Amino acid sequence: TAAGFPAIKTAEDFDFTAQTAITHTDYAAMASGRYLAEAGNIVLLGPPGTGKTHLATALGITACQQGHRVLYATAVDWIHRLKGAHDTGRLDAELRKLGRYRLIIIDEVGYLPFEQEAANLFFQLVSTRYEKASLILTSNLPFARWGEVFGDVTIAAAMIDRIVHHAEVHTLKGASYRLKTLGTDSLPS
Ligand code: ADP
Ligand code: MG
Repeated sequence: TAAGFPAIKTAEDFDFTAQTAITHTDYAAMASGRYLAEAGNIVLLGPPGTGKTHLATALGITACQQGHRVLYATAVDWIHRLKGAHDTGRLDAELRKLGRYRLIIIDEVGYLPFEQEAANLFFQLVSTRYEKASLILTSNLPFARWGEVFGDVTIAAAMIDRIVHHAEVHTLKGASYRLKTLGTDSLPS
C-alpha cells in the first residue's frame, strides 16, 4: 500500500479474546484517533506473535481512512531512510517532510541493535515529532532494555522520556498467535 503497510490488517480480523492485554474498548478508544489530534503516541510492547504489527497496521489504516497522512516502516527501514538523507545532506529536509505526516509507525524496535549514528538519527526523528505529530512504536523489548538497542542508555532514556510523555502504552502478552494458528492438526501424532 502507499503508506507502506506490510499487509492489510483490521480490528475485525483481530481476536480480542486471544489477546486479553488489550480490550476491544481500549482499541476502539485508540481508533477514534484522539491521540492524533493531541499529537500523542501509542506504544505496543510484547513478545513476537502477540499482535503488535497487526494492531499498529489496523490503527494506521484507520488513520488513513480518517484522512490523515500515514507512513509505516520497520525501525531498520526508518534508519536506512534517515541515514540516506543524512549522507546526502538532506536530513533536515527529510525530517521536515516527515513532519507533514500526521502518523508515523515504527515497527520492530529492538530486533536489531543500532549503531551510534543510527541511534542519533532515530532520536532526531522522535524529538522533531515530539508534541507535533504522532508515532506508533512496537517493540519486543521493555523500555528497560532499550539502552541495549540504542547502545547508549542516555540517548535511550531521553528518547523514551519524549515518547511516553503523551503516550498510551500496552504490553501484549501470551504465546505467539503464529504458532497457535498452526493448530493441533499440524502436530505429528
Ligand atoms: P507481532 O508483530 O507482535 O510479532 P503480528 O501482529 O505480526 O505479531 O501477529 C502475527 C500473526 O498473527 C499475524 O498474521 C497476525 O495477523 C496474527 N495475529 C496475532 N494476534 C492475533 C489475534 N489476537 N487475532 C487474530 N490474529 C492475530
Ligand atoms: Mg511484528
